[in-house]
Amino acid sequence: MNDAAPRERGKVVISARMVRKVFDGNVAVDDVSLDVSSHEVVAIVGPSGAGKSTFLRCLNLLDTPDAGTVELEGASLTGAKKKELARLRQRIGIVFQQFNLFPHLTATDNVTLAPIYGLKLPRPEAMERAHRLLRRVGLDDKLDSYPRHLSGGQQQRVAIARALAMNPSVILFDEPTSALDAEMVSEVLTVIKDLASEGMTMVIVSHEIGFVNEAADRVVFMDQGQIVEEAPPSRFFSDPQHARSRQFIAKIL
Ligand code: ADP
Repeated sequence: MNDAAPRERGKVVISARMVRKVFDGNVAVDDVSLDVSSHEVVAIVGPSGAGKSTFLRCLNLLDTPDAGTVELEGASLTGAKKKELARLRQRIGIVFQQFNLFPHLTATDNVTLAPIYGLKLPRPEAMERAHRLLRRVGLDDKLDSYPRHLSGGQQQRVAIARALAMNPSVILFDEPTSALDAEMVSEVLTVIKDLASEGMTMVIVSHEIGFVNEAADRVVFMDQGQIVEEAPPSRFFSDPQHARSRQFIAKIL
């Protein structure tokens, strides 16, 4: 899937240290540290307002941390100048809840845009890559469709192809199925599970507990801006160690 040379297993891809984000005096992310290794799938779960999305957005500086550091493969994002930051960000894919496709561009053009303008990939190569990735996410017959002619699930699969087109080192998913009708959730989760089995490094904020249980290597449970507990899903869901984790699990299961 990923065109880049195979990554060394176990190398740290993203490293966040004491990341803090405050909105109007409210601490949304409270000194959070997290390392994500290559080929690892980390699921961030927790109650609404726990700071999950804000922390995820801090990982590529869509939200600028007020304190702390973020590194991608050893290179500092938080210390980077504008041009270097733009270059590093190209290696971090992000898939949003609301897809965020350009409405005036076809599926193919949505996917080729960043490779052509960001990576300076020649148009024919970018087109070939886009078509391959759109087929990969099951959109063979939608290559030239505009977002308004696509279902939510199809739009989200275009957004995943768009992220993959940059050959990212990691993809961040911010509640990728929350805006979808129930019948479309599984088609998107299947694509993400396939990426996991192919070794894509991913950080996923998700409420889909069945999916997290199946696809994640590690669950990170956040509450009130902090990481309360980290564990493999089988252990987290069957034998949570903290009272807050137990409360959360009791509510969702
Ligand atoms: P979660 O993803 O766990 O639901 P969020 O990261 O969205 O939590 O939000 C954490 C806290 O930060 C909440 O109290 C939320 O209201 C606040 N928050 C998030 N984004 C903003 C923003 N852009 N401006 C002000 N407050 C925000």
